[in-house]
Amino acid sequence: MTIHNIWEAIITFYEPTLEIMTLWSFGLPLFVTVIAVMFICSQKLKGPFNLRALKNAAFPTEQYDHASSRVDMWNGIILLLLGFPLVGVIAINGIAIAEQVGSYFNAEFGPREILMTSTGLIVAVQFLVYFLSVDFVGYWVHRWCHTHPLLWHLHKPHHTAETLTPWTLFRQHPIEFFGLNVIPAVVGGAFTGLVLYATGTQLHPGMIVAVTTTAYVAFFVIDVFSHVHIPISYGWLNRIVLAPVMHNLHHSMEPHHWDKNNAVILTLWDWMFGTLYLPKKGETWRWGCNDEEYGDNNPHRTLKGFYIDPFKTLWRHLKEGESPNL
Ligand SMILES: [Zn+2]
Ligand SMILES: [Zn+2]
Repeated sequence: MTIHNIWEAIITFYEPTLEIMTLWSFGLPLFVTVIAVMFICSQKLKGPFNLRALKNAAFPTEQYDHASSRVDMWNGIILLLLGFPLVGVIAINGIAIAEQVGSYFNAEFGPREILMTSTGLIVAVQFLVYFLSVDFVGYWVHRWCHTHPLLWHLHKPHHTAETLTPWTLFRQHPIEFFGLNVIPAVVGGAFTGLVLYATGTQLHPGMIVAVTTTAYVAFFVIDVFSHVHIPISYGWLNRIVLAPVMHNLHHSMEPHHWDKNNAVILTLWDWMFGTLYLPKKGETWRWGCNDEEYGDNNPHRTLKGFYIDPFKTLWRHLKEGESPNL
């Protein structure tokens, strides 16, 4: 199967609903997020129910009309218009990399014995290997962004957010946005290619549909939702999948919370590798990077600072050995 075939399989599947999909691909998840946030807030409202109180609880002015969330929104719009289509294409091409790597090993070492014949099993195995490996690499790349001083320069802008709204997901420096999406897709794709070769199977079109659908749902439902200001918990599932409260804590400026909950989709990796932090009952925290770079002193308070400051601090680090404020 070539890249052309892969795209054909995706387009054939989505073609009947392509126009609706395009219209709804941003609208529907946003609508679902808004309804979910309003529903949750309505449960917590004290006193008689009224729409103004609900609106203030779900979309508080101090969150949405703040310099921090304005940077998130404008950078988000720019990324969605310019960066997102490009990264989306490259990320999906991780599947094509899997196919290329599988074909390379087949040609080099000869085909292997076919270990699976059931379509359901083939799709399930290929999907799980790709999904888990991409998410696993995503966890490690994010974790290294926190622990490697040079990478931190580019990830820090995500953590100078002083408010959380769904737009904060897009508070990513363009270079970080590119790396965080492309590296997991390439490495995960290559690993999946090895599994294709080891199991003697070809990439199945059903797997491609499953991956693209999951990527879409996971991205919007889990990652956008994890940036709402309400610390929603999924109970015991917090150890498995990223709930808003877990990523909410990842944005904490309290030192004992730093570098915890690095999950992209599955907190399972945090649990396995010792970076899981389950908030205690009643525990609170402030969002931001640190006390010195807060409010008027936040270097990313404006869009210009958000784009330029990481290059400045990176340059100072390389030239003068000045480490960033981790
Ligand atoms: Zn982070
Ligand atoms: Zn975040």
